[in-house]
Amino acid sequence: MITIDANFEGGNFEDIHQIGTNHFCGKVAAKLKEPHLKWFCFRIKGNKGDKVIVDVHYGKNIFPLSTNVKPVISYNRKEWERIKSTQWSGSDPNRQIVSVTIKMQKNIAWVAFCFPYVYSDLKSYLQKIEKDSNIKIETLCLSPQKRAVYLVTLTELCKEDNNKIGVWIIAREHAGEVCGSFVCEGLINFLLSKNKLAKKLLNKFIFKIVPMVDVDGVAIGAHGKDQWPMDFGRDWTENPTISIVKSIKTVIDKWAKTHQYKLFFTIHSPGSWDTNSIYTFSKGTCSASLKYYYEKQHKFMELMEKYSPSSNKIYASRYCEETIPGMSTQLQYIKHNVLVFCLEVSYQRALPNGGNITIQSLREYGAGLAKAIYYLNSEVTL
Ligand SMILES: [Zn+2]
Repeated sequence: MITIDANFEGGNFEDIHQIGTNHFCGKVAAKLKEPHLKWFCFRIKGNKGDKVIVDVHYGKNIFPLSTNVKPVISYNRKEWERIKSTQWSGSDPNRQIVSVTIKMQKNIAWVAFCFPYVYSDLKSYLQKIEKDSNIKIETLCLSPQKRAVYLVTLTELCKEDNNKIGVWIIAREHAGEVCGSFVCEGLINFLLSKNKLAKKLLNKFIFKIVPMVDVDGVAIGAHGKDQWPMDFGRDWTENPTISIVKSIKTVIDKWAKTHQYKLFFTIHSPGSWDTNSIYTFSKGTCSASLKYYYEKQHKFMELMEKYSPSSNKIYASRYCEETIPGMSTQLQYIKHNVLVFCLEVSYQRALPNGGNITIQSLREYGAGLAKAIYYLNSEVTL
């Protein structure tokens, strides 16, 4: 007897039914009013040795061109691997089906779009690191469903000296973009490590990190991009409509009055391509003052390629202060004149040494981000 369900934190799979011997199908669900589906995560209960086929139907709302999806499987929800048997079908581009064939290695398996990282994973991680003298963890605000949105401060002995350089980093504005959580862990682990550069970073910088913005979306297994009535990543105006965005903006604005705020990062994952990339100001269309920032942004990209083994080639894309209103990067640049980066971290890019991105390589990307920040400061004036 084989059963499949998604009744757990971050689960997403519905209308599950059997269509043949050990052959099941189900649909990726819109958990919010969201036009693009991407995130799914379900559990198979059966017996070790069973061969199970599951067809994951995206229906008409799949994010365009994401047919390179390489789902992952785990038998303990800690170690994950890519499912090699993944196959796409459905000739209509709006009716995509991804099928996985699994030979059960244990009685329970979890299958997901990419490595899951839910709200309770964040809470256990923060509990593990909270005793370090260089870290302070606070509740920045409560979500509409009363979950704490955390603010993590990292600096030497957590002394917020006003002369230190301020760096704000936010992740999971789009709930299903899980890579941001592993990048944040990698960055924080590096800063708390015994590495000499980490000590220098904590001495010179204050890191203010909001590791999970849309906590409610993560908990219900939403993807969240372009959700109605407002996308978390497009609500960064002077008067945001989403209470969490409003609270983060207010805290940053207040903090910036008394600190040397210099850098802002928001960590995302691409909608429909597989490469890592960074949105920068576009050289051709921007004003002279923006070109000055553009040079620094490109210096940073060079440094990421040098210090983050998993960053590979990072592509600059079009982005200009006038073109994407409501993006956190745009507002932070306009309001605080800081250097801003929107990092798009791939779910499944092929690694240079074979295979696809792993949790480990995402954490390495985070450590590389810390190193690139250090050398950016020593090579250009922030
Ligand atoms: Zn995003």
